[in-house]
Amino acid sequence: MATPLAPLTTLRLGGPARRFVDAPSADAVVDALRTADEPVLLLGGGSNVVIADEGWPGLVVRVESSGRHVERVPDGTVVLTAEAGEDWDGVVAACVADGLGGLECLSGIPGRVGATPVQNVGAYGVEIADLLVDVDLYDRRTGAVRAHVPAAELGLGYRTSVLKGRDDAVVLRVRYALPGHASSASIRYPELARALGVEPGRTVPTAAARDAVLALRRTKGMVLDPADHDTWSAGSFFTNPVLPEAAAPADAPRWPVGADRVKVPAAWLIEHAGFGRGHAGPGGRVALSGRHVLALTHRGDGTTAELLVLAREVRDGVRAAFGIELVAEPVLVGCVL
Ligand SMILES: Cc1cc2nc3c(=O)[nH]c(=O)nc-3n(C[C@H](O)[C@H](O)[C@H](O)COP(=O)(O)OP(=O)(O)OC[C@H]3O[C@@H](n4cnc5c(N)ncnc54)[C@H](O)[C@@H]3O)c2cc1C
Repeated sequence: MATPLAPLTTLRLGGPARRFVDAPSADAVVDALRTADEPVLLLGGGSNVVIADEGWPGLVVRVESSGRHVERVPDGTVVLTAEAGEDWDGVVAACVADGLGGLECLSGIPGRVGATPVQNVGAYGVEIADLLVDVDLYDRRTGAVRAHVPAAELGLGYRTSVLKGRDDAVVLRVRYALPGHASSASIRYPELARALGVEPGRTVPTAAARDAVLALRRTKGMVLDPADHDTWSAGSFFTNPVLPEAAAPADAPRWPVGADRVKVPAAWLIEHAGFGRGHAGPGGRVALSGRHVLALTHRGDGTTAELLVLAREVRDGVRAAFGIELVAEPVLVGCVL
């Protein structure tokens, strides 16, 4: 029987899966995939996918495995191992509660552990690449589990990795290295430093950093709240373009990225191309968030087709204004921008 996928996504959009399996352990994930002879879609928390209204014509496996443990190694570092189906923010909250610093700037990000290396999740100056040791992967091409695949093999970049958009490499388990003390990672992001009242580069107690990150995220609609349509999104819909310095609009904010290249905030480009907060798409059922133009939100009773119309309008408007091509951050499933 077809299974509706919309309720399993944070956008609450997308048609049904022809076949659906909830896999409560790594072994169950492997078993479900080993016998599959149809197109396969892996699903975690559904917070970084845009699924076509037609749904998925094959098998959807939702990764529901649970379990985590920490091990202190002789150099004082702590290695945190978590199953792919663990709720990411639950892991972050538990580390903060246990006095383990390192993850707190990544508080409030929806989704599950298995997806964190997939797009090298990042926020407030920290990204998974800073912490990732290795992953256990199920390789669907060979039918073998590869244990301890090092982070260096995953091609982690800005909101991407070699795993993104693929269905043949499945993350079963992830290991992160934490510094083994109770203070936060150094606070690099200026907005967060200001909120905490410290100079950039300082550390603070992990709980303070988590509280400040969650508070900042809430002002942008970036903490899930089922009652708040501003959070019915896939997070940032576009990545921040990385451009040669000369291609950046003269008055745009920018951060240096290597030699001669800069990252320009997509939100600035969108706003300066004329799209304000709350800008609505077809029928008003989809709209830019009322708190952050980078989130495309579903206001209820909308469709993925409508969301994509809005996304194209924004992308084309930015291209016309600045000659810069915005690229979608979420994984588009069965649809294109
Ligand atoms: C309100 C909101 C705020 C957000 N804020 C941020 C942010 O600050 N920073 C950020 O980086 N992201 C952010 N995101 C995006 C999203 O939360 C992350 O990308 C998250 O890691 C996705 O996890 P998920 O389990 O929901 O993945 P899903 O959406 O279920 O899947 C995403 C992709 O990963 C694949 N995948 C999932 N699990 C596995 C697995 N075990 N093995 C292999 N492939 C897999 C899927 O097939 C799909 O292609 C935000 C999203 C929302 C809705």
